[in-house]
Amino acid sequence: MVLALLALLVTSSLLASGDTCGAAPFSVAVVGSGVGGAFSATLVRQHFNASALIDVYEGLAVGGRTQSIEVSGETVELGASIFCELNYYLRDWAESLQLGRVPAGLNTTDAPFAIFDGSSFVFQQSTWSAVSLCRLVWRYGLSYFRFRAAPTAIVQKYLRFYTLQREGFSADTPEQLLQEVGLFDLTQKTFKDAIEAIIGSGSAAARFLDELLSGINRVNYNQAALNAFAGMVSMFPFVDDRLYHVRGGNVRLSKALLTHAAARVHHPAAIQAIQRQPDGRWRLTLTSDTAATRQEDMIYDAVMVATPLEQANIQFEGFDPPPLPPRKYQRTVTTLVSGRLQPTYFGVAALPPGESIMVTAAAKTPFSSIAPVIVFPNGTITYKIFSAEPLATTLLNEI
Ligand SMILES: Cc1cc2nc3c(=O)[nH]c(=O)nc-3n(C[C@H](O)[C@H](O)[C@H](O)COP(=O)(O)OP(=O)(O)OC[C@H]3O[C@@H](n4cnc5c(N)ncnc54)[C@H](O)[C@@H]3O)c2cc1C
Repeated sequence: MVLALLALLVTSSLLASGDTCGAAPFSVAVVGSGVGGAFSATLVRQHFNASALIDVYEGLAVGGRTQSIEVSGETVELGASIFCELNYYLRDWAESLQLGRVPAGLNTTDAPFAIFDGSSFVFQQSTWSAVSLCRLVWRYGLSYFRFRAAPTAIVQKYLRFYTLQREGFSADTPEQLLQEVGLFDLTQKTFKDAIEAIIGSGSAAARFLDELLSGINRVNYNQAALNAFAGMVSMFPFVDDRLYHVRGGNVRLSKALLTHAAARVHHPAAIQAIQRQPDGRWRLTLTSDTAATRQEDMIYDAVMVATPLEQANIQFEGFDPPPLPPRKYQRTVTTLVSGRLQPTYFGVAALPPGESIMVTAAAKTPFSSIAPVIVFPNGTITYKIFSAEPLATTLLNEI
C-alpha cells in the first residue's frame, strides 16, 4: 500500500527538537488518520521517543479508505482490501502489533476468475494451473511469456525503497525518491505504452492488455487509465501471490498504529486552515461543524498533511503549499449483495465456476468487477461489486 503523504510542513525548530530538557514537548499535528496519517504518527513517535506530543485530526472516519463491515461474522473489506507480502511495512507492523493477517479472498477457497466482454466470457481461469496456461496461450499467444519478467524487474527496484530507508536515505520530494530507485520514468508514461513496449501491439497482445491486465487494474483501482507505475504495482502478485488482509479488517492497522504512537486522535475534527505563525510555528483551525471537539489553541511545531490535498479543503495561509501535478480522482462505490448471479444477465446458460468476474473496458457494464467474498453453507454467496456510480436495486435484481 502506497503512503499518500502529500506534504510535510516542518519549522526550523525541528532540527533542534532533540533538546527538550525543561521545554514544552515538540508538538506535531497530523491531518488525516488513514494508513498514511497513522504511519506518520508512528514514525514521528519513533524519531522523538517520548519527547513529542502528537495530535491527529480526522474529519470523517478513522482509517480513511480502509473500512470494513461484518457480514454474518465474516469481515468484508469495503476499501483497501489486500496487501501483498512485498509490502514489508504493512506485513511487519501487522505482525509486531500482533494483529494477525489472513489470506485475502474468499472465506472458503480462491475463486477462479473469468473475463466478460459485454457479450461473452472471453477467458476463464481454471483451478488447474496447466489448464489456465493453455487457455492463456490459446487466447493471448505468447504475450504472457513476454510480459512475465516485467513485474519482477519492477519489484526489484521497488524493494530498494526499503534498503534506502533502512540506510537512512531521505528524499525531499517523492520524485527524488522514485528517481533514486529507478522508478520515476514509469510514472511519466501510461501503463498501456509501457506494456506495448514489452509485448507489442499485435491483436493477441492487445487482447492480453485490454482483457487481462486492464481487467486486473479495474479490479484493484476501478479504472484502467493509469500511469505505468500504478499499473505495474497491481501486477506484483505475478511475482509474489501471497495476499493478505488484517484479521478483523485492515482498519485495525491504522487504529493500532495510532495507539502505539500514543497519538491523541481528535474525531470528528476537520481542519479548515493551516496558518504559518510569525514565530515559524503552525496554527490549525477546525471547520465550524467539528470545532466542538477541541477548545484549546491548536499551534504546533510541525504539521503533516496525510491526505490527498485535492480532497482536503484546507486553506493555507502565510505560505504556499508544495505544488502538485494535476490529478483526477474518481468515486468508487462498493456494493455488497447476497444471493446468486443470474446467468441470463451474462447471456450464458451457466456461469463460469468461481463467479469472480472481471470486465473489459469495452463491456460497458455498469460495474467494473464482481467478486464473491463469502460463500454460505446453503450456497448463497455475498458478492462485492465495484462501480463508479451507485447501482439501483432493480439493476442488482437483474444481475
Ligand atoms: C475501494 C478501494 C479499494 C482499494 N483497495 C486497495 C487494496 O486492495 N490495496 C491497497 O494497497 N490499496 C487499496 N486502495 C487504496 C488505499 O485505500 C489507499 O491508498 C490508502 O488507504 C490511502 O491512505 P491515506 O492515509 O493516504 O489516505 P486516506 O485513507 O484517504 O486518509 C486520509 C484521511 O484524511 C481525512 N481528511 C481529509 N481531509 C481532512 C481535513 N481537512 N481534516 C481532517 N481530516 C481530513 C479523511 O477523512 C481520511 O480519513 C483502495 C482504495 C479504495 C477506495
